[in-house]
Amino acid sequence: MKFERVVITGGAGFIGSHLCEHFINTGAHVVCLDNFSTGRWENLEPLLPSGRLEVKSVDITEGIDVPGQVDAVLHFASPASPVDYLGMPIETMKVGSLGTFHALNLARSKAARFLFASTSETYGNPQVHPQPESYWGHVNPVGPRSVYDEAKRFSEALTMAYRRSHGVDTAVIRIFNTYGPRMRRGDGRAIPTFIAQALSGDPITVAGNGTQSRSFCYVDDLVAGIAAMLRSAEPGPLNLGNPEELTVAQVAGRIKELTGSSSPLVFVDRPQDDPDLRRPDIAAAHRLLGWKPTVSLDSGLKRTISWFRRPDTVATPAGMIA
Ligand code: NAD
Repeated sequence: MKFERVVITGGAGFIGSHLCEHFINTGAHVVCLDNFSTGRWENLEPLLPSGRLEVKSVDITEGIDVPGQVDAVLHFASPASPVDYLGMPIETMKVGSLGTFHALNLARSKAARFLFASTSETYGNPQVHPQPESYWGHVNPVGPRSVYDEAKRFSEALTMAYRRSHGVDTAVIRIFNTYGPRMRRGDGRAIPTFIAQALSGDPITVAGNGTQSRSFCYVDDLVAGIAAMLRSAEPGPLNLGNPEELTVAQVAGRIKELTGSSSPLVFVDRPQDDPDLRRPDIAAAHRLLGWKPTVSLDSGLKRTISWFRRPDTVATPAGMIA
């Protein structure tokens, strides 16, 4: 199927703006719907001269109106960093319920393919490791993180209901920790926080004793996986992430080394329900899409660090929650 005009909710955010860029580079027209709660104009500005980007400043929980042809709806709007969603708990639940409902209705009315950006957080603090798609997860439904985890689980269920009841051509991906240029220094996620701290000479704040593991995927690899999923007929859910697993302390150490920083590593309180382990089983994505990540952690970190070194990305780092 050819995607000539695609709608991206959350298109001004970190991943969303990389997706806008990808589809514009393939010759498509992109309609970006964003309320700029965590997204930024600067992410989109370099794409405007293409003449193929339309930006609408809207809150998608209030409704979505996109006249004309739409071939795909990629639903990425949602606060994604723990600092963001813990600060916007009701907004997060609204965009993961009403927002998903409106995005699905748009796809239905246009007979468009719908792709939902779910998350490894649907597995909660996992008791199965690595996590395959068949694992139903271990989520605290009433803890502070539940506003994000349960909104995403609800959205997955709603997406499947639209597929079964209305015949919408849907796809669900579960994204594992992704990093790269255009992350906000203050968004609280581990890699931008560590890089910002290392570059400014502040202590690098590692949560707990740093032995909890994460698997970090470079954004270009993720975008390639999303594009492959969209172009396939697969419904998912499919895990997209990099299975190279490191402890959070190892990642902090790597960033300290690559930046040449003299910042000390300090250990701070771990947030409630912070997962102990995170590693995607990507056998299904490899088998069904022929996809696997190709960018090594060192290479991705180097590219991200050089982006963070630009003078216009200066801001105060917030406390870290991985
Ligand atoms: P981000 O915060 O940079 O982007 C989210 C975007 O959604 C922002 O531009 C924000 O302004 C927009 N938005 C939020 N609420 C909205 C609303 N009501 N109406 C319109 N726009 C709204 O986050 P990101 O890291 O780019 O994540 C994008 C998506 O991918 C999210 O749905 C997130 O849950 C998912 N995801 C990301 C990761 C990751 O590691 N980055 C991992 C798993 C899942």
